[in-house]
Amino acid sequence: MFILRGVDQLSSAITKAKKIRPRVEVDRFGRYRVSGSKGYYTVICRKDTRGIKAVECTCQGGEKDLVCYHAAAALSLHVGLAKQRQTATV
Ligand SMILES: [Zn+2]
Repeated sequence: MFILRGVDQLSSAITKAKKIRPRVEVDRFGRYRVSGSKGYYTVICRKDTRGIKAVECTCQGGEKDLVCYHAAAALSLHVGLAKQRQTATV
């Protein structure tokens, strides 16, 4: 799991995600399945009560608290969905 502090943190993972273009499937809002080298990984994006955003991935890198491209791919979808939700509730 890693704490999301800013986009800079994700830049290399985003570059990798753009190159690899993994499939991202929505399980539900905040929970995604991302294709990887050994099948699908689950990525969980959540925000705690203090507004701290945490991202978890079930791949080896994610278990070592690294920012992996699965997380980057899932986050880009997550951010889009979160915006849609905000717009819907206005
Ligand atoms: Zn991962």
